[in-house]
Amino acid sequence: MELLAKFSNYRFLPAGYFSYDAADEVINYDPIRLKKTNGKISLLHEISHCELGHFHYRYDMELLMMEVAAWNHTKKLADQHGVRVNEAYIKDCIESYDEWVNRRGSCPTCDNFCLEYKESRYSCFVCDTRWQVSPEPQKRIQRRIIA
Ligand SMILES: [Zn+2]
Ligand SMILES: [Zn+2]
Repeated sequence: MELLAKFSNYRFLPAGYFSYDAADEVINYDPIRLKKTNGKISLLHEISHCELGHFHYRYDMELLMMEVAAWNHTKKLADQHGVRVNEAYIKDCIESYDEWVNRRGSCPTCDNFCLEYKESRYSCFVCDTRWQVSPEPQKRIQRRIIA
């Protein structure tokens, strides 16, 4: 657990996953995965969200930008603390968010990529279709067309 000891100014809670709970200012971590490099990277990633003050986002694109910023910061922390960076793993994580943004933002009618006009709502500037997505990033992607 030596990595945790280096961040004694944060509150860590053993859990079955890695996440930063901004409301409670707690970083959840998986003690088993923490023994491996990817687990250490995941921990540093959550610490990065915390250090960068990532508290709330409104738009899908903002979440993607936060993820990219957090991963850049993760690389810096990994360097400082002698954790080997698995570039492929980081690339996969960013790509999965990128794909998520792309799928939510693609028009269900004509497949054109659009931006949100308000939280969780999209409208297509090509064919005028409007749709809604779940505000929860963890939820399965479901685009519901709205009239
Ligand atoms: Zn993240
Ligand atoms: Zn369209």
